[in-house]
Amino acid sequence: MKQPKIRTRMAPSPTGMLHIGGLRTALYNYLFAKQNDGEFLLRIEDTDRARFVPGAKEKIFEMLTWADLNWDGEPAIQSERLEVYQKYAQQLIDEDKAYYCFCTSEELEEMRASQQKNNLLVMYNRKCKELNEKHKDIVEKNLADGKPYVIRMKVPYYDTDKILGKDKERPVKFKDLVWGDLSFYRYAIDDQILIKSDGFPTYHFAVVVDDHEMEITHIMRGEEWLPSTPKHILLYQAFGWTPPVYCHLPNILGENKKKLSKRTGDVSVEDFKNKGYLPEALINYIALLGWNPGTEQEIFSLEELIKQFDVNKLHKSGAIFDYKKLDNINGQYLRKLPAKQLFDFCLPYLAEIYGDALQNYSDEYMTKVISLEQERLKKLSDIVGATQFFFSDILEYDAQLLIWKKANATETKKKLMETKKKLMEIKKWERDTLEKEMLSFIKEKNYTNGEVLWPLRVALSGQQNSPGPFEIMGVLGKNESLRRVESAIAMLC
Ligand code: GLU
Repeated sequence: MKQPKIRTRMAPSPTGMLHIGGLRTALYNYLFAKQNDGEFLLRIEDTDRARFVPGAKEKIFEMLTWADLNWDGEPAIQSERLEVYQKYAQQLIDEDKAYYCFCTSEELEEMRASQQKNNLLVMYNRKCKELNEKHKDIVEKNLADGKPYVIRMKVPYYDTDKILGKDKERPVKFKDLVWGDLSFYRYAIDDQILIKSDGFPTYHFAVVVDDHEMEITHIMRGEEWLPSTPKHILLYQAFGWTPPVYCHLPNILGENKKKLSKRTGDVSVEDFKNKGYLPEALINYIALLGWNPGTEQEIFSLEELIKQFDVNKLHKSGAIFDYKKLDNINGQYLRKLPAKQLFDFCLPYLAEIYGDALQNYSDEYMTKVISLEQERLKKLSDIVGATQFFFSDILEYDAQLLIWKKANATETKKKLMETKKKLMEIKKWERDTLEKEMLSFIKEKNYTNGEVLWPLRVALSGQQNSPGPFEIMGVLGKNESLRRVESAIAMLC
């Protein structure tokens, strides 16, 4: 028999930013679809009107596109499909697998309180199930009077439910690719709401209808949806549809081993983008949060991930989000960028800080400055702090920093004055010549490298750590370099 085409989907709710966990879900669905010549679809689950955030949907599209996780076809939008859900809900009512519920929120509250008091499972007490079964006339009248209602599923677990008969208490079972064979007691499954009083479907109902209509074969989603899956399975059974294969992905954890949340650091994909993580690097890193190829390989292009990703090797335990590792991977991607591209990527970060003042510097100067930092950058936003001393006329630092190890201010001042004199004599002002000349000067004088080059480097950068003095002087030019050495000498009075 011909296997159906593999179709996966990402089904975000537009209730806020796309989180890093959502991006990983999208990635795994994407990889699995693509490695099977299948399709990766997108669906916006916007039926919870109270939590709807305007603009969130567009941001989700933007972030997935930024990450190069392109979906097939047009995204399905649930709020545009209300009549589809109504049709299917009506089908269940007609088949006696769902019923109208007119209970008010006060009644439900009272019921909940009494169940809690009596240590019972908190769930709908099926009052309206009886009404529907025994008093069709009242139901008709309520509907005709426009009395608010919801539609609930008649969860099949009593003998009295015709649809079940011998299914009484039979557990709801399914196999999850990560968690294996699972089984849930039927009696703990609520008569869930399918259509809310505002006419919108609930998540549970819409998700089943849509996954069926979109012919989704595999559902990969966060583990928080695992407890909802029995409800979905029951709906598939009620319709007589075949459920997709489930795969619930373990949570991504913060360093405190709790689910990654705003409190433990950045979680929105846009935050990572704004900090200057490259999409390829972020994708590479999050691919490894829950899966690894079992080899030493750490750097993967999207193409390689498509080839190597293995849904059978997904981990069960939550992966800890390791910012250091992400930085390390991002750094590796940044180092591979051509100078021009790195310049283009860094420019907006510098422009944000310096505004129009940036026009005082030539592109050539800025390209050199940026290239000098390429080795050290972990993320694009680091460029601001790392290059600050190239864009300031006055360096603020403690004169003590100029002093090398056991030396003192007087000796340091003397070395800097001699260095200045030597530098003034150098005609060909470029990195290699500067290095050659200065090293032979140090040798001639019988000085150590540290006692000359440390104060020089600090004089030029004002920093504890920076690129070396020859590189900096090569970029700053002769006048500016000498001016900085003079300022340092003046600080050592
Ligand atoms: N709308 C759900 C969410 O925002 C999707 C759950 C699912 O994939 O079924 O996470």
